[in-house]
Amino acid sequence: MKITKEFIKKIPKTDLHLHLDGSIRISTLIELAKENGISLPSYTEEGLKKLVFKDKYENLGEYLKGFAYTSAVLQDKSSLERVAYELAIDNLSEGVRYIEVRFAPQLHQNKDLNIIDVFIAVNQGLAKAKQEFNSTDKVKSGAEPPFGYGIISCAMRMFDYGFSEYFDKLLDVHKHSERKWIFSLASQELVKASIEARDQYNIPVVGFDLAGMEKGYPAVDHKLAYSLAHKNFLKKTVHAGEDYGPESIFQAITELHADRIGHGVHLYNPKLIKNKEIKDKQAYIRNLAEYIGDRRITLEICLTSNMQTNPDLVELKNHPFKKMSESKLSVTFCTDNRTVSSTTVTDEIFKAVQTFNINRKDLKDIVIYGFKRSFFYGTYLKKRKYVRSVINYYDKIERQFKLKD
Ligand SMILES: [Zn+2]
Repeated sequence: MKITKEFIKKIPKTDLHLHLDGSIRISTLIELAKENGISLPSYTEEGLKKLVFKDKYENLGEYLKGFAYTSAVLQDKSSLERVAYELAIDNLSEGVRYIEVRFAPQLHQNKDLNIIDVFIAVNQGLAKAKQEFNSTDKVKSGAEPPFGYGIISCAMRMFDYGFSEYFDKLLDVHKHSERKWIFSLASQELVKASIEARDQYNIPVVGFDLAGMEKGYPAVDHKLAYSLAHKNFLKKTVHAGEDYGPESIFQAITELHADRIGHGVHLYNPKLIKNKEIKDKQAYIRNLAEYIGDRRITLEICLTSNMQTNPDLVELKNHPFKKMSESKLSVTFCTDNRTVSSTTVTDEIFKAVQTFNINRKDLKDIVIYGFKRSFFYGTYLKKRKYVRSVINYYDKIERQFKLKD
C-alpha cells in the first residue's frame, strides 16, 4: 500500500530542529502584538501571510524578516509560556511525540527578564502540554507513547543594534573592543546560564546551538562556548552549511564537537570551499561526508525552509537529501520554523516521500532515528525504553494501515 498523508500524520514523529520564535501561531502573534502595542504590517492572518509569512521568499534576508515581529512579542513570561504551550499542542495534534525547541534566550532578555526567566517561562509552557497529554488514558495505559521534549539554547553568530535591548547595551559597553569578541563572550555567558538552568532549576536544557548569519561570522569564534558546553555534557548542534560551504560543517564537527548539524544543505557543494589550501575539493567533500556518515552525526533536514532560503535549488528534487540518503547518512526531517516556513512535520515527511520515493522501511528508519539521535533528557536506559515504546507504536500504526502483516 502507498504511504499516505494520513499514515504519516498517525505515526509517532520528532522535530529536532524547531525554532520557538519562528513557529508562533499567526493568530497569537496578532493578539500579542495588539496587547503589547507592537505594530504589524497587517492584523489579519491573510494579510500577514501575504506580506510576511510567505510560501516563497526571495532570499534568506526576506525569510528572516518575520522574526523581528515574532521576537518583539516574546518579551515577557506569559507570552513565552503561551507560545511554548501552543507549539507543543500543535505538534501533538499532528502526531509529533518528541520535540526539541530552540530559541536564543538573549533575544528575549530585557530589564525585567533574565536568561533564566526566559528558560523558566518556555519550560512552563512545554511542561504544561506534556503533563496534560501524558495524563490521558491512552498514554497512562501504555497504549501510546508519551510526549517528551528538550530545550536547545541558541547562541547567535552575530547581533546588531536593534536586535534586542540587552545586546544594544552590550554593544555600547564594548564599543571599542573587537565585535567578534563580544559575540564570543555572549555565547559563553549563555552556556553558563544554560547549565545553571539545567542543574539548579531542573529545566531540560539538553543542547547548545549556534544560529544567525554564517557569512563573515565563522563558528570557530564561538569555540570557547562550545568547549564549555562540551565539558558540561550539553549536546551540541550547529547551524552549518545553510548559507556557507562544507568548511562550515567541517568546523562545526572538528572545532565545536557537533553531534548534529542544522541543515548541512551545502555539504556537497565544492564551489563554496574557499580555503586555498584545500586543493582537491572533491576529496575533501568525500572525506567529510564519510566522516559524518561513519560517526552518525545527524543532519537536521528542513526541506521547505532550505528551498525558501536557497531559491537556487529551484526544485525539491535537486535538494542534497537524495544524495545524503543514498549514502546512508543519518538524517531527520524537521520543520525549522512552522510559521515562517508555513509547514508541519507531516508536510515535510510527505513532501520527502513523494519527491524522493522513500519506501516503507527507509521511512521508518529515518523517523525512528529522530528519536534515537535526540538529546533526550534522562538516563540512557530511559531513552532506550522510550524509543522501544515508539517503535512498538509505529509497528501498530503500520498494521492498522496494512503496510505491514
Ligand atoms: Zn534553524
